[in-house]
Amino acid sequence: MAQASVNRCVIYIRISDLCLPARWKTTLPKADQQWIAKALFRWTSSGGVELVPEHLNQLWWYPPQPAVAVNSLPGVDRYFARPLFLWMPRKQWKVQLYCPHPGCDRQELASAGINQKVRQVVDIDGYYNLACDNLECMKCRRRVLSWSHSILSQLDIGHRVQFPCILTAKHACDRKIVLLLRNRGLGNSCSQIRKKVDEQHDEAWLNSNAHYLTDCSGFIDAAHSGLLVNRTISDPPERAALPRHRWFMQIYIQDVFQRLDEIKAGITSVFGRILKLDSTKKVVKKLAGRPR
Ligand SMILES: [Zn+2]
Repeated sequence: MAQASVNRCVIYIRISDLCLPARWKTTLPKADQQWIAKALFRWTSSGGVELVPEHLNQLWWYPPQPAVAVNSLPGVDRYFARPLFLWMPRKQWKVQLYCPHPGCDRQELASAGINQKVRQVVDIDGYYNLACDNLECMKCRRRVLSWSHSILSQLDIGHRVQFPCILTAKHACDRKIVLLLRNRGLGNSCSQIRKKVDEQHDEAWLNSNAHYLTDCSGFIDAAHSGLLVNRTISDPPERAALPRHRWFMQIYIQDVFQRLDEIKAGITSVFGRILKLDSTKKVVKKLAGRPR
């Protein structure tokens, strides 16, 4: 794929009929490629792909639902597609963002096209996709992703809370799970939370399977009796596995680090301005998830 910068906007050259940035085809689940290509992107006159600017007015994008009454062979993608969260704060809210690197003296960042990688976010009962844009400093020419902590921390609280997850190197975790992890104690360990989330993922996946296979049942019978020919009924996709419990612990630690000032303020307001050794032990026990 060829890539060229024109007016700080990245143009992706058309290499197939799917109207998506090239690397989205490898990082986006197959079930989401068609509907996201139709919903968000369009071809340029030069054969490249661009995000439709009018579509920056919403953060959440949802896939089309399966038909209630099935009159034709249902497509498997409709039953297993995931929502998309599109995060481009500089363009969506016209806010000024600055280069986080010391030495650039608050140089304003410019938009540098949509990021080529789509991340998968672990939600309570499934996954959703997360996409963001690149920001570029005109002074040091370094690029920053708009979902990075250094950018999120520049937003006011009202905008920042709209970002729904915490990111790690591979996956990302929705804040609903982060909230479950916060109240750690006996019977509420990271392994226990993982088990509960795993059960909900399993239940949602089984429901989608049952829905899809029920809608297909008439067509499967027709294929067996020879009434339906030259049509393939696709198998449901495999369930995406959850990260291990260590990853949930990593998310918990990251959440604590992000709220460190708030936590410190909470501790000193309860135990006085100077922490006693005994109080410190209580805090350490609480953070380790032990009962008081
Ligand atoms: Zn810079």
